[in-house]
Amino acid sequence: MASSAGSVQRTDVLIGGAGFAGLALAIALRQGLASSFSVTVADPALGRTPKDARASAIVAAARRLFETIGVWQNVEAQPILDMVVTDSRLSDVVRPVFLTFDGDVEPGEPFAHMIENSPLVAALMQKAKDEGVALREAAVADFERARDHVDVTLSDGDTLAARLLVAADGAHSAIRERAGIPTNGFSYGQSAIVTTVAHERDHHGRAEEHFLPAGPFAILPLKRDTAVGHRSSIVWTERAEEAARIVGVSYDAARQRLHRARTELAAKMQELEAAKPRRGAVL
Ligand SMILES: Cc1cc2nc3c(=O)[nH]c(=O)nc-3n(C[C@H](O)[C@H](O)[C@H](O)COP(=O)(O)OP(=O)(O)OC[C@H]3O[C@@H](n4cnc5c(N)ncnc54)[C@H](O)[C@@H]3O)c2cc1C
Repeated sequence: MASSAGSVQRTDVLIGGAGFAGLALAIALRQGLASSFSVTVADPALGRTPKDARASAIVAAARRLFETIGVWQNVEAQPILDMVVTDSRLSDVVRPVFLTFDGDVEPGEPFAHMIENSPLVAALMQKAKDEGVALREAAVADFERARDHVDVTLSDGDTLAARLLVAADGAHSAIRERAGIPTNGFSYGQSAIVTTVAHERDHHGRAEEHFLPAGPFAILPLKRDTAVGHRSSIVWTERAEEAARIVGVSYDAARQRLHRARTELAAKMQELEAAKPRRGAVL
């Protein structure tokens, strides 16, 4: 466990960020190394109930990792049994299916599962506690490299001396930037609106991804909720200004707009199904 020497606490590894990456690494380190090996995770979000509206497609390899560290058994995930990808304009007369994945990685093993981020983070957090990971509700505010360790200052004013500092603070990692690790990136000028919708009919584990001119529109199956019924996660990408406009209008207006987009897609998908020679063909 992290120990205190004067006012400076020591830890073998300090992980900044308690998302999927940070927590999974912390658990794996505790399980794989001696129990005297101390792992600390610091994240200001640790004290809050996870409220991430996103859902993620967890591919088979990542699912096996969550299984190995004993977390997957504690979450409910929806297997993706079929996936359809199209790549054309809604107004195109023919919208061929670009790609389909309907099959298992291994017999009986779906290639991916859909899971809501919040319950997965909650399960990871519980497992981390059970494995003796020290959880600190604070941000990594600053750090200085010393000869054989890093002195890390947390946002609550505490200082930790860590043999290794891991930046797991998300896509726009401030820790990575502070460490001077360069990245290359560019903006697509798009924003994604993420929401969960309830619907009447069963999705039968089918995921759809439509690559439209404004960006991908994905309908991803979620586990049935006893109170709400059938549900899917929507990732609705638009040009950034249009997305800002949509989230700025009233809830009802945004819902109508989503309903219209989905109705148009459903009609096109029906035409597509009728025209398709056989399932699983790449056209
Ligand atoms: C719309 C959308 C859909 C996606 N769908 C998928 C998908 O289907 N499948 C998939 O695999 N991935 C998907 N992703 C990507 C996926 O969400 C991320 O890859 C994943 O969440 C990254 O996890 P992470 O632990 O690196 O970072 P995050 O989940 O972003 O967590 C970072 C954590 O770091 C904390 N933090 C920030 N700054 C500091 C600091 N200074 N000190 C300490 N902590 C800090 C934050 O509070 C946060 O808890 C999607 C992303 C988006 C936006």
